[in-house]
Amino acid sequence: MEENCVFCKIVKGEIPSTKIYEDEDVLAFEDIEPIAPVHVLVIPKKHLDSLLELEDKELESKLLSAVKKVAKIKGIDERGFRVITNIGEEGGQAVKHLHIHVIGGRKLPTRFPNE
Ligand code: 5GP
Ligand code: ZN
Repeated sequence: MEENCVFCKIVKGEIPSTKIYEDEDVLAFEDIEPIAPVHVLVIPKKHLDSLLELEDKELESKLLSAVKKVAKIKGIDERGFRVITNIGEEGGQAVKHLHIHVIGGRKLPTRFPNE
């Protein structure tokens, strides 16, 4: 656990969250500023800065399984949805605790907007 990491605090229950799925190693909760009707974050309970630090294959597999479980729980698995993990500065990663966005519930733009 990292001090001052907002997602570590969510794992510890120090910051409240709306949980969608949880197991021993993985937690999924509603994004606080959803960009679509469904916007859930899937994280490892253990602090890892980003996907680049993820070397544990079992955890990697658990995270991806949790993404699919979340999509089923939220009822978007058959409609389609988007899975994103931002990495580092240019990737637009604001929270430095590995998280996978599960976004859906509406037709998403086919391309990322240019800024
Ligand atoms: P990033 O830009 O790092 O990929 O995404 C971070 C995400 O975390 C954002 O979508 C933001 O809304 C979400 N977020 C930041 N702080 C909190 C929080 O305290 N609680 C929840 N549920 N989501 C958060
Ligand atoms: Zn953390």
